[in-house]
Amino acid sequence: MRGAIPSFFMSGDTGSTEQPKIFYTEVPQTEAHDTLLLEGKVKSVYQKADEPDTVYLHFHDKVTAGNGRRIDFPEGKGKTCCLISALLFEHLEHKRGIRTHYIDCPSLDTLRCNKLTIIPVEVIVRNIAAGSIVKNTTITEGIKLSPPIVEYFLKDDEKDDPLLTDDRVRLMGIDPEPLKEAAIKVNTHLQMLFSLMDIDLVDFKLEFGYDVNENLCLGDELSPDNMRLWKKGTKERFDKDLFRKDEGDIVEAYKYILTQLRQFV
Ligand code: 5GP
Repeated sequence: MRGAIPSFFMSGDTGSTEQPKIFYTEVPQTEAHDTLLLEGKVKSVYQKADEPDTVYLHFHDKVTAGNGRRIDFPEGKGKTCCLISALLFEHLEHKRGIRTHYIDCPSLDTLRCNKLTIIPVEVIVRNIAAGSIVKNTTITEGIKLSPPIVEYFLKDDEKDDPLLTDDRVRLMGIDPEPLKEAAIKVNTHLQMLFSLMDIDLVDFKLEFGYDVNENLCLGDELSPDNMRLWKKGTKERFDKDLFRKDEGDIVEAYKYILTQLRQFV
């Protein structure tokens, strides 16, 4: 069943009294996680014995930075990232025709997704200079990058996710062009959506993989954990940099994004 997102903000979650636009529909809960496939830094990936082509992404109340060197466990963070991801995947898949791994959201902190063979390349799209492009070049923070740029990083924590060149990606046996094309499309749609919320989509990281039918699909999560979001025209952050730079409460900021998104998707 596609398109199921449970009610946002369970009792006391944010104080919001608004109703969700997409209501919870009957979907089996995910207590019966059978096999732990992968324990990520902030998510676990499970599989059930009778659903070989499906995985369950469970979001933890956990945040890390510096490749796991800093860590915290903020209450409500897992659910908030999960629900933001569900809304963004639904928007991209159902309204914008982007193929993603998302099937539905059977509980507040879990996504059900099609199993992918993940491509070991992180695809970054940048609309405004921030983060590593500022640290590693002469480019000034806040400069608009128009057209947006797409970068590739190796998905390998042990090697600290180094920057790749197009040629290196090709030598790894991966064609970067379909990744770039899909990433630019995602950027166009997400930029438009966040712009309605008076938010600048500064940059974000995507991961892709192939489903059982060899279709290229957008995977992983889509949340302020892997994107930079600034209040339009300012550098006021609503993303993981608040934690990276120890500048504020990420859960409050993420919940603000979730509340805004509910009005526009
Ligand atoms: P930068 O290269 O500037 O550090 O990151 C660019 C964008 O990609 C930022 O929005 C950042 O949050 C995201 N990003 C890059 N690498 C990772 C990663 O390993 N994990 C997560 N969650 N996000 C990442």
